[in-house]
Amino acid sequence: MHPRLIIAIDGYSSCGKSTVAKALAKRLGLQYIDSGAMYRAVTLYFMQNNIPIPSPEQLHNLDFNFEPVLDKIHIEFRVNPETGLSDVHLNGVDVEQEIRSMTISEQVSHVSAIKAVRVRLVELQKKAGVMGGLVMDGRDIGTTVFPHADLKIFMKADPMVRAERRFKELSLKGAEVSMEDVINNVVGRDYEDTHREESPLRKANDAIVLDNTYLTQEEQVEFVMKEIVKLNDSVKQDF
Ligand code: C5P
Repeated sequence: MHPRLIIAIDGYSSCGKSTVAKALAKRLGLQYIDSGAMYRAVTLYFMQNNIPIPSPEQLHNLDFNFEPVLDKIHIEFRVNPETGLSDVHLNGVDVEQEIRSMTISEQVSHVSAIKAVRVRLVELQKKAGVMGGLVMDGRDIGTTVFPHADLKIFMKADPMVRAERRFKELSLKGAEVSMEDVINNVVGRDYEDTHREESPLRKANDAIVLDNTYLTQEEQVEFVMKEIVKLNDSVKQDF
């Protein structure tokens, strides 16, 4: 086993990053960290506490000190005994379900564009990786959080296919959303995430592209596993 291996998975919204990341973590005995859940939890806190959320146009003109607010936010991942998966906790409360709502999805890219928020969360993410041994997914993991990750995967898929997958997922959970809203959200977040000033979503030069438009989950995991065995001799011996 490779207790110190760091795998960074970045990509567009609703690409299935977390599904692949979770499967890899399980297979390799690594920790999984969903960095998007951290931005979502901060967004939830902002909304619950009426903290101003600037639109991209307002971002530079907003005179607001986010530091004291961020000092009050405590985010951690705890294993849910029922599912065996890590749930995100915001100030001690399990918010895993709440942060997946469309209301949060509609605001999260505005919140993640705030420099103070990014600085704070990137710091936490780097700390989580100090000992290695993890798979982290997000938008800037291979470029900013772990530029020296052992393996970087950049995931993409046709936007309509991504929106359909997301729509199905939300509908299964009983959410009342329209396909149009989901498409707008997926495409809108892609735009904001790739155009923001602070560590925008982009493929790291050394990242391997995984287009999963026509791939099953198993095929995606196999794709990454093949890259892992290529990494180096010591890795090969273990797999
Ligand atoms: O991965 P997920 O879709 O849950 O991420 C929600 C949002 O959080 C993204 O659209 C993006 O704005 C932000 N994010 C980010 N950097 C990351 C992870 C997520 O900016 N590393």
